[in-house]
Amino acid sequence: MNVSRPIRARIFPAAIQHNYRVAKAKAPDSRAWAVIKADAYGHGQMRAAEALRSEADGFALLECENAVALRAAGFRHPILLLEGIFSEADARQVVAHDLHAAVHCVEQIDMLAAHCTAEHTLNLHLKINSGMNRLGFDERTLPQAWASLEKIPSLNLSLMTHFANADDALGVNWQLARFRLLAGVWRGPVSLGNSAAILRHPEGHGDWVRPGIILYGGSPFADTLADKFGLQAAMALESRIIAVQQIAPGERVGYGGLFVAEQAMRIGIVACGYADGYPRSAPTGTPIAVAGRMSRTLGRVSMDMLACDLSHIPEAGLGSPVTLWGPGEAGNVPAEAVAAAAGTIAYELFCALSPRVPVETVSVAS
Ligand SMILES: *Cc1c(COP(=O)(O)O)cnc(C)c1O
Repeated sequence: MNVSRPIRARIFPAAIQHNYRVAKAKAPDSRAWAVIKADAYGHGQMRAAEALRSEADGFALLECENAVALRAAGFRHPILLLEGIFSEADARQVVAHDLHAAVHCVEQIDMLAAHCTAEHTLNLHLKINSGMNRLGFDERTLPQAWASLEKIPSLNLSLMTHFANADDALGVNWQLARFRLLAGVWRGPVSLGNSAAILRHPEGHGDWVRPGIILYGGSPFADTLADKFGLQAAMALESRIIAVQQIAPGERVGYGGLFVAEQAMRIGIVACGYADGYPRSAPTGTPIAVAGRMSRTLGRVSMDMLACDLSHIPEAGLGSPVTLWGPGEAGNVPAEAVAAAAGTIAYELFCALSPRVPVETVSVAS
């Protein structure tokens, strides 16, 4: 057996690269901001950026420090701050490191204008609130934005908006209509599509798309698994069986005794709990793979462990490999299936991967 606690996440950079190519093929007329915010959805910002170094048109993330870290690692690509600047210090960094910044309020525009030197061209992305009502300008606030932008001597401007329903039946057209109204006579570049729009709404792409979840092989849709789009999972969360219990009918499992055995059962205890990022909300029956066979979790997920059913897997025992999600050694468990059981989405599972889980980068010999 392993010398350390057996949990680990394996990340597949080749899958990220493959998925970026899928995104580009789906949006052949657009350039793409590879969205690597939230530590590349839990996959590691630098790991993801390295995987895409030779082909990403640009990178998009949130924190200025992380953009500067990319510059320090030699990334010359356009880098977009999706929420723009948060401070004067950020404004200085945007100029110093030639970053692209979304601007969603007049305060951001004015701060950037104040720090811009005459020699520097500011790359700004005017955020349009086309109906999500999170960030951006609408018909009431846009005139002020245009007035503030005029004070910038050298400006490279793009318009961007974000879709609230690209993944569901409502779609993007209602927002596109509002966006066109707000954009008015604008004929410059626009950035529109997220992952869901890239896959299902060609009219919602624009000059630049912003793929996030699909880079990591996750599906943005509740009704369709990612492999239907040719995407490959980029993360596997894996562990091992660290204990086996033989329980009698009527015995209960875990905190609260939520699972009650109806017959004699053999159960496995897995070294993975909610402190590792596995959702505590995952109920009995959540899919899990053990030693090459599909099984189900039993009872409540605890901080460091969870239980699974080994009744139909006699060959499984102490040390058997377990896949919590992704293409693991013990089997392939779509993160979407685990997420659905837990009442959430794969995005949240990936982002919640705990820092205590060791991460291995699986580089392919090619
Ligand atoms: C996170 C984010 C994206 C990526 O969304 P996905 O659904 O993961 O593709 C795109 N645009 C903006 C503004 C975002 O914040």
